Amino acid sequence: MNVTEIIKYAIDLLAVLLLALGIKGLSKVRSAKDANRLAAIAMGFAVLGVLFDSLGGTGISINSWLWILLGVLFGGVLGAVTAQKVPMTSMPEIVALFNGCGGMSSLLVAIGVALFPISGNSTEFNNQLVQGLSIVVSVFVGSITFTGSIVAMAKLQGWLSTPSWTQNKIRHLFNISFAVFSLVAAINILSIGVGDGINLWMLVIGSALLGIGVTLPIGGADMPVVISLLNSYSGVAAAAAGFVVRSQLLIVAGAMVGAAGLILTQVMCKGMNRSLTSVLFGGALGASSSLKSSNSEYENITSCSVEECALTLEAAERVIIVPGYGLAVAQAQHTLREVSRALENNGIEVNYAIHPVAGRMPGHMNVLLAEADVPYEQLKEMDVINQDFPATDVVLVLGANDVVNPQAKNDSSSPLYGMPVLDVQEARTVFVIKRGMSAGYSGIKNDLFDLPNTSMVFGDAKKVLGDLLLELKELGLGGKS
Ligand code: NDP
Repeated sequence: MNVTEIIKYAIDLLAVLLLALGIKGLSKVRSAKDANRLAAIAMGFAVLGVLFDSLGGTGISINSWLWILLGVLFGGVLGAVTAQKVPMTSMPEIVALFNGCGGMSSLLVAIGVALFPISGNSTEFNNQLVQGLSIVVSVFVGSITFTGSIVAMAKLQGWLSTPSWTQNKIRHLFNISFAVFSLVAAINILSIGVGDGINLWMLVIGSALLGIGVTLPIGGADMPVVISLLNSYSGVAAAAAGFVVRSQLLIVAGAMVGAAGLILTQVMCKGMNRSLTSVLFGGALGASSSLKSSNSEYENITSCSVEECALTLEAAERVIIVPGYGLAVAQAQHTLREVSRALENNGIEVNYAIHPVAGRMPGHMNVLLAEADVPYEQLKEMDVINQDFPATDVVLVLGANDVVNPQAKNDSSSPLYGMPVLDVQEARTVFVIKRGMSAGYSGIKNDLFDLPNTSMVFGDAKKVLGDLLLELKELGLGGKS
């Protein structure tokens, strides 16, 4: 091992350690920002490691430096611009797109190596079977991740609805056919090699169709699980690509992302009381685009003014705020923080109930509220806060819908049935702040809105909260804010 190789391995090791620390830090809101930076630095070291690899003569040629640097520049600028431009509400679509990019990269790397084999002399991975298997896994998982993520992104964005035929059992037949088609191509690659590439392209097409076929029927409340699962797949595809290009760094980093994604998938499944098989094979929960609730479904709606809401809040001792997707759309987190400060200044206890799938991506509400400097101690997870609702005077439901729908517990015919929800109806008074009677992401009626202790305060969350703040100040609550 020469000096260049030693430096390269040291850089790789540093990248892996930083990435592991980054992933660990992401599990806490407090450390998430720094953790994200650590992971970005780790990626920088990873690229540096690849450049050093060329100096050691074990992998790419020095002529490739230009291409790598161009790729880094192009990807870096694109990533920086996207990060600046994309609003918080579109973050899940971006996450889905990034997962897709990860899958596509592994797919392209595997296709490249399969069609133009590396002529390196490394001994570790020279075994033909290992090389063939890694190409097959990388293409298969990469292709599924790519098309699955694009479908997930299009569904989240509202560009794609759930076609009715995908609710039929016939979809299993299609998916089994795509899987068998891919399996035949994979076996051919392993037994006779890539050859003229026909089997390789068959595998690409079969797995791409499988990715579409599996993701298309999934909608509604199951989407978060799919997104985290695709995140895990992108890691698996990257690890397989690591075997293809003989990069230990890529293998380790891919495995870490794959494992982290799988753990997140488990957490999301647990949070929604769904098994992974029921998500993947049980068909769609109602997607917003295919099912719509309407005013006529409601019989007992009570609405009230902001002034009435302020008066009730003034008399309260304990208030719980339930943030949802609508809060993110309205970008009302800062105004909400001012309202809660006004209440706290008057000695009212304020907490925030965080449902694991509130919003449009895992951790969406934590990020949103952290942006507005809401103290972490006030953010309470669903399991913890559910027991506090009976002793709560007022619950403010802000742009949340599915996550407070009692149907999930009471109606076995509901598409949401089985998903754990926040028991807000147990509180003395519930105010639901939203613009109208539109359904949430799952597209179904919310029984909470019909209950006698629920009052709707119609309007954009930011506007209503702004008016509420004024009312509270008039009542003398906002003075010390
Ligand atoms: P929902 O999507 O159920 O409801 C959001 C509500 O916000 C709507 O009913 C809408 O009603 C209201 N709203 C929209 N804009 C505004 C606004 N400007 N001001 C006030 N209200 C507004 O959100 P939840 O957070 O309760 O539930 C999340 C849902 O998304 C779940 O079904 C979950 O499974 C799904 N999901 C979650 C993901 C995750 O990872 N967390 C990923 C993908 C999907 P109106 O139009 O009448 O105002």
